[in-house]
Amino acid sequence: MILKTTVFLLILVGCFHPSHSQQQSPGPFNVVIILADDLGYADVGFNGCKDIPTPNIDRIAQNGAKFTNGYVTYAVCGPSRAGLLTGKYQDRFGFGRNPLLAPNDPDMGLPLSEKTLADHMKAFGYQTMAIGKWHLGAHTSLHPNNRGFDEFFGFLSGGHRYFPEEWVLNDEFEAQSQYDGYRTKLLRNFERVEEREYLTDALSREAVRFIRNNARTSFFLYLAYNAPHTPLQATSTYLERFSHLFDKKRRTYAAMVSALDDGVGRVLDELEALGISDNTLVVFLSDNGGPESANASDNGVLREGKGSFFDGGLRVPFAMQWPARIPSGTVYQAPVISLDIAATLLENLEPGGALKRDLDGINLLPFLGNPRVKAPQRTFFWRNFDRNWQAARSSEFKLVIREGENPQLYRITEDIGERTNVLPENRTVYEKIAETWNAWEASLQDPAFLGLSQDRAYNQLHPDRFVRSGGPE
Ligand code: CA
Repeated sequence: MILKTTVFLLILVGCFHPSHSQQQSPGPFNVVIILADDLGYADVGFNGCKDIPTPNIDRIAQNGAKFTNGYVTYAVCGPSRAGLLTGKYQDRFGFGRNPLLAPNDPDMGLPLSEKTLADHMKAFGYQTMAIGKWHLGAHTSLHPNNRGFDEFFGFLSGGHRYFPEEWVLNDEFEAQSQYDGYRTKLLRNFERVEEREYLTDALSREAVRFIRNNARTSFFLYLAYNAPHTPLQATSTYLERFSHLFDKKRRTYAAMVSALDDGVGRVLDELEALGISDNTLVVFLSDNGGPESANASDNGVLREGKGSFFDGGLRVPFAMQWPARIPSGTVYQAPVISLDIAATLLENLEPGGALKRDLDGINLLPFLGNPRVKAPQRTFFWRNFDRNWQAARSSEFKLVIREGENPQLYRITEDIGERTNVLPENRTVYEKIAETWNAWEASLQDPAFLGLSQDRAYNQLHPDRFVRSGGPE
């Protein structure tokens, strides 16, 4: 298999980037996915941010490609992560809600019927690690170590506090309500650890350690920072960089983004120092748009934010580098989606891999930096089951249907802020997109578990929600 993959890589490199073939080292590539949490579209330098320098995140865009129309599969954390890590629209397997913290519940999270990217990568001999926020299930059966990751360092809940002195709960069973999950001690695999560093710094340190330890083998790292998700908490080291910012909330947010950017820098530096940067695919994106009023993020000209099906909730900072394969300085304007990450990885490990596994994305590499290859005509879809919302994005148009409102169609390529409803003069376009959305919905499942907005109902059904049942983990 390794030989076959190598030959395939060499052929691809020869076809698309002959100038890079000198640098191409044979053998499989490494993968680092860096996920930010609730980062605004306009909060990175490569999307025009002025008040928060992000030189390291920007390096990824400069070294490779930035995607100006990069989407995620949902406007809040859990479902977006389920889509990213499976490469499939999460509603296909009933992940239509943001999971609750429910350590006794094997059905609260990513169903075992689904393979994660880590499962796939392990099958190709990769060493795999998840760092940071999990949010795909707190039951032991759904723990990252049982979902394809050799190593895990982080927390299972949907968010977390940032200062070690606030991590006072020994495990999820000591929680009494949803947000107590933010105060658990961190996990290294199944063991609780006494961590002393600011959370973002601790996650960066672990990422560097994993990369260093696995430099001689192929590795897959899923580095899921919870910055800059609320609560807004930063150390003086980072806050001092922004003492000139008048708005206290924005100042703390900026400090958190700056800590994240430092971590990205440590990862990139380590890859370069080890001489493995050229053959490592590094992807950076946010799991959803910024909740501007909650964390002082900025989605720029995009309409609305986290939770919304306008682009402020769905279009995110998105960049990718792979020096041996992607020309530096590429700016890719056609729509892409987080689902494309899994398809890109698996297609490059095994041609036909995405199809074989029924993945919803495509391999992006043939399209990057090669103007002769025309962008594929695709439509992306979103569904909010509980609120009966629909959205779709084609190459040119964006459709948003919210219950109780008239359907809205925007010529998104010219109207990025989704201001002018052009549905009346484009009724045929609307009907065609709505028809494809309906066909897509026919392949979906209803939500398989109650979500964050049904916290009270869940507690009534499960009075033993945080009562440890059975033996020790
Ligand atoms: Ca999020």
